[in-house]
Amino acid sequence: MKSIDISLVIPLLNEEGNINELLNRLKSTMDGLGKSWEIILVDDGSKDSTFEKIRQFADKDSRITGISLSRNFGQQIALIAGLNEAHGQSVITLDADLQHPPELIPQLLDLQSQGYDIVNTKRIEHQGTGRFKKWSSSTFYSLLNRLSDVKLEPGSADFRLLSRKALEAFLAFPEKDRFNRGLVVWMGFRQGIVSYVAPPRTQGQTNYTLKKMMQLGLDGITAFSSKPLRISAYLGILTTLLGLLYMVYALIAFVTGHTSPGWTSLIAVVVLLGGVQLLCMGIIGEYIARIYNESKNRPLFFIKDHTRDPIE
Ligand code: UDP
Ligand code: MG
Repeated sequence: MKSIDISLVIPLLNEEGNINELLNRLKSTMDGLGKSWEIILVDDGSKDSTFEKIRQFADKDSRITGISLSRNFGQQIALIAGLNEAHGQSVITLDADLQHPPELIPQLLDLQSQGYDIVNTKRIEHQGTGRFKKWSSSTFYSLLNRLSDVKLEPGSADFRLLSRKALEAFLAFPEKDRFNRGLVVWMGFRQGIVSYVAPPRTQGQTNYTLKKMMQLGLDGITAFSSKPLRISAYLGILTTLLGLLYMVYALIAFVTGHTSPGWTSLIAVVVLLGGVQLLCMGIIGEYIARIYNESKNRPLFFIKDHTRDPIE
C-alpha cells in the first residue's frame, strides 16, 4: 500500500464550474503543509463535463485520482466510494462547491495531532443562507435529536477528518441506507470540532432538492431510532383506555335509556376493536424494530487503542 499522509475525498455532482478553483485552492493549501497528499474526486453520475475536467487534472498530476460512479447514487454513497480508495493516514471529506473552505484543513490536522481520531466541523450560518434552508436545517436537527438515539450538532455536515483507525471503523458498516453524520457520532472515538462560516455556493445550484433533504432526514431518523414504531403501541394503549372509558359511558347511557337500540353494542365493538388493533400493530412494530436492528448488522464495537501494535 502506498503510504500517504493525507487523503482528501470529494463527491461531485455537476460541479464543472467549481473544479478549477477547488483544486487550485486545495493544492496551495496542501503544498503549504509539507506532507504527502492525494485528492480523490468521485463523480456521482454528473450530466455535465465534471468527469472530463477531473480527468484533465488527473492526467497532469498523479496525486489526483478520479472515480466515476455508474449513476447518481447520492452524496453519502459517493463518499464511501471515495473513502474506499483512500490511502492516507488521515482522510478528510469535503464538498466540491467550496462551502467547506480548504483553508480550514490545517486546523483539522492540528486537532488530530492533539489526539483526536475524528474532527467534525460545525457550520455557522452566513448572511446569504436562504430563509428556507436555515429553517429546514434547524427543524431537521431538532426533529432528529428528539426522535433518534444519537445527538447531532446542528450545522454538522460531511466536512470532517477521520484518522486511519476511525476510517476503517467507518467502512465496517454494512448498511445500505446510510446517514453518515449519525454513524460517525455513533462510532465513538475521541471527537473534536472546528467551527467555520460557510460562504455561499460559488457556482451552480444546490444539489439538495427538497425531496433529497426529506430523504436524508428520514434516513437519519429511521437509521437511529425505532421510536416511530413505538408510537403506534402507545397510541394503541391510549385508544384502548379511552375506548374502555367510552364503553362505560355507553353502558350508563344504555341503562338510563338515553340511546337508540343497537347503538351501545355497536359503539362498544368499534372502540374496543380499534384500540386492540392499534395495540397489536404496536406489538408487531416492536418485533419489527428488533428485526430491523438485527438486520442492520452493525459491528458490535470498535477498538480504539491497543497496548500492542496491531499485527501487520
Ligand atoms: N453531491 C453528490 N451527489 C448528489 C448530491 C450532491 O455527489 O446526489 C455533492 C455535491 O457535488 C457537493 C456535495 O455533494 O460536492 C454537497 O452538495 P450541495 O452543495 O449541493 O449540498 P448543500 O451544500 O446545498 O447542502
Ligand atoms: Mg453546498
